[in-house]
Amino acid sequence: MNDLKQKMQLIWGISIAMLLSLLFPYGWIVSLVLMAVNTYCYIRYMRCPYCQMHLPIVQRPFCPHCGKRILD
Ligand SMILES: [Zn+2]
Repeated sequence: MNDLKQKMQLIWGISIAMLLSLLFPYGWIVSLVLMAVNTYCYIRYMRCPYCQMHLPIVQRPFCPHCGKRILD
């Protein structure tokens, strides 16, 4: 399930880029775009591979819905 871990890292990466972009003039425009991308990625990819339920952004090794192991 390393795949899920990578998606999670991507979402965190975009979040950090969002914050950093606020340091620049007009960075909030970039930040808004990144926020939209991030929300899309979250809704699209952050799901349990077993029960397809949404996962919290702070990841635990087990799915909170079905209890199956989702991270190594
Ligand atoms: Zn599950």
